[in-house]
Amino acid sequence: MHDPIPTTTFPDGRNVPVLGQGTWRMGENRTKAADEIRSLQIGLDLGMTLIDTAEMYGNGGSERIVGEAVRGRRDEAFIVSKVLPSNASRSGTIAACERSLRHLGTDRIDLYLLHWRGGYPLAETVAAFEELKRDGKIIAWGVSNFDVDDMEELILVPEGGNVATNQVLYNLGRRGIEYDLLPWCRDRSVPIMAYSPLDEGRLLHDADLVHIAKAHQATPAQVALAFLKTRAGVISIPKTGSAERSRENRDAMDIHLTAENLAELDRVFPPPRRKMRLEVI
Ligand code: NAP
Repeated sequence: MHDPIPTTTFPDGRNVPVLGQGTWRMGENRTKAADEIRSLQIGLDLGMTLIDTAEMYGNGGSERIVGEAVRGRRDEAFIVSKVLPSNASRSGTIAACERSLRHLGTDRIDLYLLHWRGGYPLAETVAAFEELKRDGKIIAWGVSNFDVDDMEELILVPEGGNVATNQVLYNLGRRGIEYDLLPWCRDRSVPIMAYSPLDEGRLLHDADLVHIAKAHQATPAQVALAFLKTRAGVISIPKTGSAERSRENRDAMDIHLTAENLAELDRVFPPPRRKMRLEVI
């Protein structure tokens, strides 16, 4: 028996499990499609209902895989997608969202993000997001790769305070946001989505983490995800195209790190002591 996956709450009151699923590099290779769909479905079965995609991933290929995975069970899933900054004008955002809806084979995106800051004024993108919300094509919107100064600017534009999340690079080896961005978001009840929670797989080869994981009779991936579970208001979205690793990642939620365990992780992966510029991938 599993412990239930803990949840966190978006500003509009919707609850989501703090372990979701990423999909970057899915939908790029036909021979992998069946495994990718299967792993997302297993993830859904196991309660990892938030699925993160983007129009950029595989030029819509990832959104198509997600659409296949949730076919016939759309209401179980919480779909996050993203508009490219180069499309994020007022009309471009609407058109991009409609394309994404077609790729996903759905009538709504649960959370729609600006992938990173580009040349269009934030006010324009936000106005488009709000229009999409009024039309029921998205339920909420957010941003990605925004540092504190970007967030400060965002909340000053009309309706900018409706931002529901900021999706950023965050994992054991890259803890810079703990200094300022994470507290900033927590103060405003805006959950953070931690992307690349396994540092794109690099963390799994860290000798110290391998050692700590052994002591927990767990894998390095599981300890990395269990660590993020201890951070309030953080949703992690590991990507795997393997059903077996989907199960392994889900099992990480059964690991309970003690204060002593966390102190050991802090020694190996020290938290920031000063402002660090937001890292991006
Ligand atoms: P990640 O989730 O940190 O790592 C993914 C890599 O780890 C893949 O190579 C995967 O391989 C492997 N993996 C997953 N679970 C594993 C396990 N239990 N044991 C061993 N290997 C495992 O990296 P990511 O894909 O960059 O980040 C996750 C998601 O965040 C993305 O998919 C995307 O949805 C989102 N993202 C957003 C942004 C942004 O700018 N907003 C940027 C990057 C990522 P297999 O597939 O072969 O299992």
